[in-house]
Amino acid sequence: MAQRLNHNSLPILSIGALGGTVSMRTTQPGSGAQPVITGEALLDGISQLHEGLDVHIETLCLVPSASLDFNLLLEVLIWAQEQVKLGALGIVITQGTDTLEETAFFLDLLWDADVPLVLTGAMHPSDHPGADGPANLLDASRVALDTQSRKRGVLVVMNGQIHQPLHVRKCSSITLDAFNSPFFGPAGLMLENRVLYLRKACARTVLPMPRSIHHKVALLPATLSADTVLLEHVLALGYDALVVSAFGAGHVSVEWVDLIEQVTTEIPVLVASRTGSGPTAEASYGFIGSEMDLIDRGALMCGFLCPYKARILIWLLIGCGHARDIAKYVQRLGFKAAEA
Ligand code: ASP
Repeated sequence: MAQRLNHNSLPILSIGALGGTVSMRTTQPGSGAQPVITGEALLDGISQLHEGLDVHIETLCLVPSASLDFNLLLEVLIWAQEQVKLGALGIVITQGTDTLEETAFFLDLLWDADVPLVLTGAMHPSDHPGADGPANLLDASRVALDTQSRKRGVLVVMNGQIHQPLHVRKCSSITLDAFNSPFFGPAGLMLENRVLYLRKACARTVLPMPRSIHHKVALLPATLSADTVLLEHVLALGYDALVVSAFGAGHVSVEWVDLIEQVTTEIPVLVASRTGSGPTAEASYGFIGSEMDLIDRGALMCGFLCPYKARILIWLLIGCGHARDIAKYVQRLGFKAAEA
């Protein structure tokens, strides 16, 4: 086993910085915030992170989170696995908040260690008078090192709350309380610098590492008076699965149903609610384009899984050769979500 030298036998905390607002500041007047702050510099001014800890920090990349991708996340995962081998008791990843709900779910589905992997970021850049990065990083580190966090997989810590990747959503574009777990609430919170969980850790779903990464999953939103052009071309464009971000409890227009049925004969079609909160239905509506109609035509309802997470799930399942089990995983993650 690889071993990091730790002369003082202090607990090891590993922090990987990826960029995002937490690593941003304005570089020249009028330029807008840019990701320029290295991992090392993120620790400046957080004196609590130097007390009684052996902190190992690396800048893995410095990008806005919209430019992260699955390939890079697999590298981050391998880096984090290496930190566990080197003796880290907790791992924190700092990144942009725009894709945090997706990266957290992606990493959680692959993270098989008991060591907590905690993702955090900031809503205000570091040169903003109300910069939240230092407090979030300190909270995330405390969560990562807390023994109660072990076996909980990946966690998201923002604004004093702890969220599970399956439930967490970025629900506001700009405010400090941007992260919520609609319907379920946070898994825990920081109380007087202590970690307080509101729910027990429960059985996790962990997938094998993807063997291939070149497959593609399309995501099409149902919108009022939408045309059918993209839907008509999904198969010809070589997509390996389709996620429909559907109206309400899993509905699309009458114009879409025959095309969706055609697509289901070739590739998996997942239907998730575009509402941002609440599950798809299965047996409530029977009109053409309803959830019952789409199920009859071969589509799979995603329950509480949002369209973005449904896309990640099927992408990973295709990658590890388990796409045929998609219904089982959707059942586990989308419908039993309350227990997850
Ligand atoms: N607004 C973003 C953030 O909060 C930018 C990004 O996701 O990189 O970090």
